[in-house]
Amino acid sequence: MIDLVDILPKHKRKRYNLREISLIKRIVVHHTVSDATPKAIAKYHVKNNKWPGVGYHFMIDNIGEVFRCNKIDVISYNTSGLNLSTIGVALIGNFEENKVPDDQWKALVNLVDDLIDIVGPLEVSWHAKHKATLCPGKHLIQKLEAEYSGCDDCAEIKED
Ligand SMILES: [Zn+2]
Repeated sequence: MIDLVDILPKHKRKRYNLREISLIKRIVVHHTVSDATPKAIAKYHVKNNKWPGVGYHFMIDNIGEVFRCNKIDVISYNTSGLNLSTIGVALIGNFEENKVPDDQWKALVNLVDDLIDIVGPLEVSWHAKHKATLCPGKHLIQKLEAEYSGCDDCAEIKED
């Protein structure tokens, strides 16, 4: 894991609010559509969206390198209406068009396991479950459905 928390661009004044870890209920998976670097994506979220910092907590590149982008107690913006209780994980790439590389997928599964070890049971979902969007792309959604539907300890759905 490469820690970019203190390295990625942040807004000059705005800061995300913080939360108790016990408020976290789910992981929402995204894709970035473009092949940009975490730094370029963070820059876009800050400069273009005027957000306090990058929206995702983690990004994973196509060789399975995991980048920590926000501490998990940060209420960053990635899933409208659910940010308070969500950890956002973005896989770099476009999985509407492309299949998910094995190393990238394995890194996601390992990250989910690690987060459940730290936080406790979490629902594993994806952006299109909560909003009318293609994100994170049909190829990734198919794998997420196969891996996490009906998974007892890893995908327990908690009430908001
Ligand atoms: Zn998304």
